[in-house]
Amino acid sequence: MTRPNELTFAPLGGVGQIGMNLSIYGLAGKWLAIDLGVYFGDEEHLPGIDLVMPDVRFLEKEKKNLVGLVLTHAHEDHFGAIIDLWPKLKCPIYATQFSAALFEAKCASERNPPKIPVTVVPSGGRINLGPFDIEFIPVAHSIPESHAIALHTPFGTVLHTGDWKIDPTPIIGLPTDEKRLRELGDAGVLAIIGDSTNAVRDGRSPSETEVAATLTKLVKAAKGRVAVTTFASNVARLRAVAEAAQAAGREVVLVGRAMERVVQVARECGYLDGLPAFRNADYYGHFPPDKVVALCTGSQGEARAALARIASDDHPMVTLNKGDTVIFSSRTIPGNEKAVGTIINGLVTQGIEVITDRDALVHVSGHPRRDELRDMISWVRPQLLIPVHGEALHLHEHAKLARACGVPRTMIVKNGDLVRLAPGDAAVIDELPSGRMFKDGLILEDSKSRAVSERRRLSFAGCAFVALAVTMKGELVDDPAVDLIGIPEKNLKGEVMEDVVFDIVVNIVENLPKARKRDPDAMAESVRRAVRSSLADQWGKKTMCYVHILQVED
Ligand SMILES: [Zn+2]
Ligand SMILES: [Zn+2]
Repeated sequence: MTRPNELTFAPLGGVGQIGMNLSIYGLAGKWLAIDLGVYFGDEEHLPGIDLVMPDVRFLEKEKKNLVGLVLTHAHEDHFGAIIDLWPKLKCPIYATQFSAALFEAKCASERNPPKIPVTVVPSGGRINLGPFDIEFIPVAHSIPESHAIALHTPFGTVLHTGDWKIDPTPIIGLPTDEKRLRELGDAGVLAIIGDSTNAVRDGRSPSETEVAATLTKLVKAAKGRVAVTTFASNVARLRAVAEAAQAAGREVVLVGRAMERVVQVARECGYLDGLPAFRNADYYGHFPPDKVVALCTGSQGEARAALARIASDDHPMVTLNKGDTVIFSSRTIPGNEKAVGTIINGLVTQGIEVITDRDALVHVSGHPRRDELRDMISWVRPQLLIPVHGEALHLHEHAKLARACGVPRTMIVKNGDLVRLAPGDAAVIDELPSGRMFKDGLILEDSKSRAVSERRRLSFAGCAFVALAVTMKGELVDDPAVDLIGIPEKNLKGEVMEDVVFDIVVNIVENLPKARKRDPDAMAESVRRAVRSSLADQWGKKTMCYVHILQVED
């Protein structure tokens, strides 16, 4: 499967969707993986599925040729699947300090903490793994230590951008390394594999520093208590909130475990140096209302997170009242609008002032808008651009923009496409096994999981259970047991559906031909069909139906 004389690339996730990022590069018979993340969205109904992740069966098969997994940054869509999938790959992992530390903290919070070693690489550092010469180039994003990965190969250099933006004043960490990117461009770059998230948005994304200024103004102006919710991993934002609190003479109280975990890691890495210690939620009640800022998890409306509990007055330590302020320093990820809306409505009903990014610059995206994409292209001047990290529209717009900027060639690929980057013209040369895995409770299932498809059917059409005890000749020994789960109690005529089904079952069993009566499988099938068609007539929906027949000796 590996091709010794070619440089290849394949996305095994993250194309045509935002999330579940996993890219692989092939060179001299070896593979390198970049990122291994989860997908959260639910554009599709997946009842009871906590996480969706890429199917790694191809890498599992090629394990002996996999030289390592390199992480661009520690967002869940880039590293959230490692704990579940690493046991299948067991390859060495490389990341910079903050990503490695956050991963370690995440492992430690698991029920059975896994031991997954990560080798720390310095920001801006360069490592060799098998035939790959890998450079970590700092880029600004919405988490500390995001990196573009430059792969230096005998066929030329490929720039895998990871998630990035241009922010000259990112509050913490290094800005995007324009100088290094220009140097790469001067030396010649074969291809950019690039972030397309904001390819439909004109202009440039504002700086974290502008958000910080807005937060300072808002916190200063607030009368009562202030709660700010944001993505815990955005340490620059946490810092901005802390500085806003300090400027207003308020203390910061952390509410939510994810928040505590990130703050601890950020402190260890020095990203919160110079700030007073944060308090834990126990202290919240000790401060007068105008002396406290609660920094909360739950910006996506997660039911068990801090903000949802506070909004429904169900948090043991943290309460809000009329006149207090809640700032959503976040964007609502598509799919979460309802959950977030419910919380906002709850807060507004209680007389709490809610400020979102519709009202003020309290959030910026961590991804490049069109002018930033143009800058990157003008610095790097690649021969080829393959848009990734986006839905179809984002990929298409990114490719179009690249061509308008003079990039000679663009290619839109799908998950599983194996692209030959060099030598010769880039082309899709194979299709690798790819797809999705579901985390169902503690169990990892493939996307054909019967359990999930059954639950999906159950969720819109319920299930009928029928149990019969019959003699060897097929005569009923007792009344059939009928249970209808998730099915309306009465039909349009007002008859109890369970009674109607009961009568049908009795009637079918009694009128079966003798031979069929003696065969329990045949009887079950006849009953099943009759029950399903009767429910379809009465209700207008097709249900699942299970018939159990117990034969008893005469
Ligand atoms: Zn990211
Ligand atoms: Zn991402």
